[in-house]
Amino acid sequence: MSDYEENLNFMYEPIPKRFWSFESDEPFKKCLVCSSDLLTESQNYFIEKAYNKGEVIFEYAMCFECRESLSDELSLKSRQLIENYFAEHIDFEERRRDLMSNPKFDIEHWLDKCLVKRKKIDPNSEYQIFAQCVENDLAYAYAPYAVSGEAIDDIIKLLSDETLGTLGDFTDKYLGIDMPQNLILI
Ligand SMILES: [Zn+2]
Repeated sequence: MSDYEENLNFMYEPIPKRFWSFESDEPFKKCLVCSSDLLTESQNYFIEKAYNKGEVIFEYAMCFECRESLSDELSLKSRQLIENYFAEHIDFEERRRDLMSNPKFDIEHWLDKCLVKRKKIDPNSEYQIFAQCVENDLAYAYAPYAVSGEAIDDIIKLLSDETLGTLGDFTDKYLGIDMPQNLILI
């Protein structure tokens, strides 16, 4: 976790329906990878949902430890390139200040523009949404956010074949989907 994340005062709200599982119509209960219980063990976890033409293409929740392990499997070079890309295009602090100036936490307000491109997300386009949660709550901090297909294409171009292979094996095993169009945002 970066210094920036440690210094944030996270604000919490019960997980809005937008981040519930589309499949079960309930909040996610288990980590996709290790099946640990997300709702009862003070667990930090992440939720990602990918949309295309208004439909959910894939969705999952993953505990912090499993996300770290997956990230560790990626090449250092790819991780640095992703980090640099984000640092170059996103000012998380500014974004957060902006969003926090609205006293009401409106989830759609946090998701209406691409985190990277800062353009309105077309609900019929390909895009992905991402949230950080603890037990029953969603944390408002650097997430939640949405990333457009355009930005995902940019990120894919940065990744080595090795990294794309690792992510491809992972999504194939756990989500049954092909890469790279459906990049998971780790
Ligand atoms: Zn896990």
